[in-house]
Amino acid sequence: MSPSFDPRDLTYPAGHFLDGALVSGPDQIAVHAPSDGRVLSDIPLADASMVDRAVQSAKKAQVESGWASQRPRERLKALSAWADLIEAEALPLAQLEAASSPRPVTDALKNDVAVVAEQIRFFAEFADKSCDALVPTADSQIGFVASEPYGVVGAITAWNVPLALAGWKLAPALAAGNAVVLKPSEMTPFSTLYLAELAVRAGLPKGLFNVVLGDGATTGSALVSHPDIGKVSFTGSTRAGIEVMTTAARSGLKPVTLELGGKSPQVVFADADIELAAQCITRTILSNAGQGCVAGSRVLVQDSVADQLSERIAALMDLATPGPTWDAETTYSPIISDRQLNRIDEIVSAARHAGAEIQCGGTRFDHEGSFYKPTLIRKVSSDSPALLEEIFGPVLTVQTFSDEDEAAEMARHPVYGLCAGLFTRDLSRAMRMIRRLEAGTVWVNRYGRSRDHILPTGGWKSSGIGQDLGKEAYRANRRIKSVLIDL
Ligand code: NAD
Repeated sequence: MSPSFDPRDLTYPAGHFLDGALVSGPDQIAVHAPSDGRVLSDIPLADASMVDRAVQSAKKAQVESGWASQRPRERLKALSAWADLIEAEALPLAQLEAASSPRPVTDALKNDVAVVAEQIRFFAEFADKSCDALVPTADSQIGFVASEPYGVVGAITAWNVPLALAGWKLAPALAAGNAVVLKPSEMTPFSTLYLAELAVRAGLPKGLFNVVLGDGATTGSALVSHPDIGKVSFTGSTRAGIEVMTTAARSGLKPVTLELGGKSPQVVFADADIELAAQCITRTILSNAGQGCVAGSRVLVQDSVADQLSERIAALMDLATPGPTWDAETTYSPIISDRQLNRIDEIVSAARHAGAEIQCGGTRFDHEGSFYKPTLIRKVSSDSPALLEEIFGPVLTVQTFSDEDEAAEMARHPVYGLCAGLFTRDLSRAMRMIRRLEAGTVWVNRYGRSRDHILPTGGWKSSGIGQDLGKEAYRANRRIKSVLIDL
């Protein structure tokens, strides 16, 4: 069955989700469809007292359901049932995701929904397989390192891939025995709300996963500062990440996991498979129309192949055809809002006026909705915002280098260190460069995450603190207790 849909036909859940039910409130925020700007629904905004209600309900559910104290295999069973139901309800979930976010419905169905179910199963396996460690002490003693859940984890997510980000936060936190109160972006709340409804339908205790709706200033900061939140897990901009960390520090020195912005380089050597590099680079920047933290928006290419690579990328970019996210054939996304589209255009225009060469794109599409043409900029000056700022749009800069030293120096960003791509057929060079790249993730002869959830993801420098995914994310959702017993 085709996943195409008419956004007028969907029922949008539009309330906070507390104790297993939607709680409505006065409409305060309009949620738009980026594909054509229409208002899909209005949603309420949780003030501090609503956030308190959600946290108290989660705290009670975590304790009274025995979520953490029961045999761990019961957690695995409950989470697996939830993953099964997510797969069974993949179509409505993908449609709710596609309605308000930039995710085309086919992508949401094949990738995002499938990945969330996989991640829930992946982390559920940790519940009954992670062991505390006995440590060497005198025979008259027993020493061990135990770990326990934090209680209630406060999670906050961005709008660019809302379902996938919710999965990153929820799966390890719940598997590790916590309850979660999640605030999705005010622009994309629907799929997260449906995920919460499915959790209850699958048999997870009511209240174990609550959702509060609202903006960052009121709802987000009330969640982070709540005294009963034991840990904060955040995905969003570096600007907001700094505010979150400050609030968390001032309200009980809570530990934070921060997944933040990036301006990642893709380094192409002359010995690389240039067609492969062009395909990978273009696919990444076109995916979600560049609205991805890992976007790989700074291409660095060795002089002798710069024209060949740029021309091929520009040719591939020209094939992008915009369409509404609710059409199953759409592969090229709208920009989330006119505001964001104008920001992209301002940065590109500023580069053009400063003398950069726009090899392709550089304007919005003449099409209903907020669509921007894939853009390739060359001869950009080293202080250009196009080179330094996270654009969060379909814009690539291409710069040239002559050797490894210059490539390593140019790849280094003064602020960010999220990921990096490397294209070369020389394994020794790849190993030397991997060590020199300042990034939490390096991909060689590919670009982008695989579905190997065992690989953690996290940024260096101002791109973040801590990791989502991998064993590291499970551990980050439990706190350590050292125990020494004199016998
Ligand atoms: P944003 O920082 O504006 O908002 C993210 C979330 O934080 C939203 O839910 C927002 O309401 C909330 N928020 C904002 N200010 C807050 C505050 N002071 N306290 C608490 N909550 C607050 O980011 P965005 O525009 O939604 O998303 C784009 C950004 O997210 C980009 O910078 C992108 O790189 C980043 N991102 C990073 C990753 C990663 O894994 N590193 C993944 C996806 C997106």
